[in-house]
Amino acid sequence: MSLTYTAERASELISNADTIKKEVESLSAGRTRLVCVSKLKPASDIQALYDVGYRHFGENYVQELIEKAKVLPGDIEWHFIGGLQTNKCKDLAKNVVNLYAVETIDSEKKAKKLNDTRAEDLPVINVYIQVNTSGEDQKSGAAPDECESLAQTILTGCPRLSLEGLMTIGSFGASTSQGENQDFKTLVEVQKKLESKFGISLKLSMGMSADYKEAIRQGSTSVRVGSDIFGARPVKQ
Ligand SMILES: *Cc1c(COP(=O)(O)O)cnc(C)c1O
Repeated sequence: MSLTYTAERASELISNADTIKKEVESLSAGRTRLVCVSKLKPASDIQALYDVGYRHFGENYVQELIEKAKVLPGDIEWHFIGGLQTNKCKDLAKNVVNLYAVETIDSEKKAKKLNDTRAEDLPVINVYIQVNTSGEDQKSGAAPDECESLAQTILTGCPRLSLEGLMTIGSFGASTSQGENQDFKTLVEVQKKLESKFGISLKLSMGMSADYKEAIRQGSTSVRVGSDIFGARPVKQ
């Protein structure tokens, strides 16, 4: 059973997503993945994009992701990109079989909890360390100087997780000013440091609707685009 959508809505979504996908591919020479951020949008919107080949979708709320995963195809690659509470890690690990990545790991406690609750017979979860590159108190994410020990914990103590990269949101100010984004630059610095320390290669998840082009210029390998594809979002209840 597949979810239904109108031809009109589908063509709007496909046109938006295809435009961004082409832009991403040309700016990155095919190196950068587009993750379609579908939070607060109906599952039928996701189905419409799935039906023309899109597979990577990002969600921010644990319960919403669980509900959507239940009714949508099992080969969707889900990215959890929302603020994560330690006590919700188990729900994600247990209920979203096709959870491709959790991009918002910012503490050893959360990494451990996700690891310990991911069953042996389910695929390993790719994780990104979320880095607070702007130093703003209200932003979540590990401080740049906490990332080394967090990476160490994931690499050596979390066999059910695979460290895929680093993620940042960045400050509003940095994304609206012209030219090089300082927060993205900071993420690249943390990437280089960890890559040389551990002899690994890390991807970068940075860039949203407003700043994905600049993010790609600065080396992003995964952009998270919501409103430019799905339109403005309703307010979360
Ligand atoms: C909502 C969200 C996005 C998408 O934002 P848009 O501006 O709608 O493209 C990307 N990343 C995170 C972490 C988000 O919460």
